[in-house]
Amino acid sequence: MIEKERKRNASNSALHGAFHGRLPKCIVVSLGCPKNTVDSERLLAELLRHGYSLTTNAEDADVIIVNTCGFIKAAVEESLDVLRRLSRYKRNGRARSLIAAGCLCSRAPELIKRFVPQVDACLPVDKLLEIPRVIRSLNGAVTYDKCSKLRDDKDGVRKEPFGARLLSTPSWYSYLKLAEGCDRSCSFCVIPMIRGSQSSRKLEEIEAEAMWLASVGVKELILVAQETTRYGFDLYGKLMLPKLLRQLVKIEGIHWVRILYGFPTTVTDELIETMAALVKVVRYIDVPFQHVHPEILRAMRRPGDAESYLRLIERLRSAMPDIAIRTTFIVGFPGESEAHFEMLLEFVREAKLDRVGAFTFSPEPETDAAKFDGQVPDEVKLERYKRLMELQSYISFERNRQFIGKEIEVLIESWSEHKGAWVGRSYRDAPEIDGAVYVSGDGLKPGEFAKVIVEGSDEYDLFAKLSQR
Ligand code: SF4
Repeated sequence: MIEKERKRNASNSALHGAFHGRLPKCIVVSLGCPKNTVDSERLLAELLRHGYSLTTNAEDADVIIVNTCGFIKAAVEESLDVLRRLSRYKRNGRARSLIAAGCLCSRAPELIKRFVPQVDACLPVDKLLEIPRVIRSLNGAVTYDKCSKLRDDKDGVRKEPFGARLLSTPSWYSYLKLAEGCDRSCSFCVIPMIRGSQSSRKLEEIEAEAMWLASVGVKELILVAQETTRYGFDLYGKLMLPKLLRQLVKIEGIHWVRILYGFPTTVTDELIETMAALVKVVRYIDVPFQHVHPEILRAMRRPGDAESYLRLIERLRSAMPDIAIRTTFIVGFPGESEAHFEMLLEFVREAKLDRVGAFTFSPEPETDAAKFDGQVPDEVKLERYKRLMELQSYISFERNRQFIGKEIEVLIESWSEHKGAWVGRSYRDAPEIDGAVYVSGDGLKPGEFAKVIVEGSDEYDLFAKLSQR
């Protein structure tokens, strides 16, 4: 330990020399989903722990780090674009190094090397916390070849330790990652290739992290994993989310616990009963269905059909009549005919879900689905996407309208000059993906809960006035 510390100080002194007596200032740009946000927060803490200073302004940074996303083609393009744009600070500005990290480095480091040659190092997801070492050795010592791809080393997927985090979300909410990786093999998805199979964190470790989050002022915990509802199965041989929820709601200061990224078959009766029994667990669940036609679902290598998904919705609603359900669909999957798509529309009409997101199918070269016959032309995918989203916008409008005249609890987050109102979220709104509640009233402040009466709505948002606090 002392030896390690001595070596670290020695190499930090060399770095001090290179940066005229101070350690470099770093910026971390985080792309992609909330799971990546948590990784970026660990990365920030690791940099601080090693004495680096941080900035949120790329112009001020000596080292620019981009935690990339590589889920689908659009995310890959965005990651490359951000890297390319930031590389100008290396060319014309103060930055000495540009480092790519995360999913795209695990999935396709060769793309980064080819399209953004200014990138100095590429850290896959399992090497993220090696960032201080990489910065120290950047004078030519780290090459792409030394950064192995995770998929070449699948058995070596690390069990993620509970590391320190520097929170980047507003102080009143935080994501809490339960597991890394995924045990499913959906034919369109590269995640298991990037992040490996599911590796759950120990329950006590998650609980300890949640207690720390509460102690620094977090009021809403947002549980994330690739398949949050499968939490614990790899580690304990059974689904442990219900037990975890029962522990998390005991933590003083935690007011809301929200579940993102469920899977239809692991939303069990036990989980539903537990959610219904615990008032701090918000009446909200995000369960991506991806499709409902059995032929398309089998081709996707996913279970279920329209009937079983409708039954799941019914089970959720009969236990929690006010539950908000979000799902995601993929349109234009290979082999999707007009009849398959019509069945999806019929399901959407019948299910009347609060929130629906959709993607047009993106053929990712490493996946089986990219090689399937019956690829759907882009214009058909887009046309189906528009039809689906238009239908859902009527449904969302109707669902929002049902809240007019009701009193709900809102977590206030900011003031909008443009709307002349406070902006908050109800239990129905996860940050960044769902709508907002605009609240008129005096004396509010970000981070506090308020009771409001809903006076108006559109398909995304609610408009309300303060009733009491
Ligand atoms: S369950 Fe989700 S993350 Fe896992 S393989 Fe399927 S789509 Fe990918």
